[in-house]
Amino acid sequence: MAKYKVVINKETCIADGVCWSLCPQVFEMDEQGKSRIVESFRTEDSESRSEGIIGDDLIDCARAAADACPTASIVIEEVKE
Ligand code: SF4
Repeated sequence: MAKYKVVINKETCIADGVCWSLCPQVFEMDEQGKSRIVESFRTEDSESRSEGIIGDDLIDCARAAADACPTASIVIEEVKE
């Protein structure tokens, strides 16, 4: 199964909630109102960025959120094993 790294740039996130509305399986709101990766997939979280690894079962949902993000704050790349 392919794996994908999802990175959220919290410095450009405007906290409009589009990503967690479209794909709550991967994205949620943090304490600052910004987006972060949900705990079960999260590998890193700070004030400036949040990262996680997801499987291909969630890639369509995560890509829809990334494509809809108005500030292009979500980047997804395949993890080479
Ligand atoms: S869609 Fe983009 S700007 Fe909106 S909350 Fe998610 S990461 Fe932030």
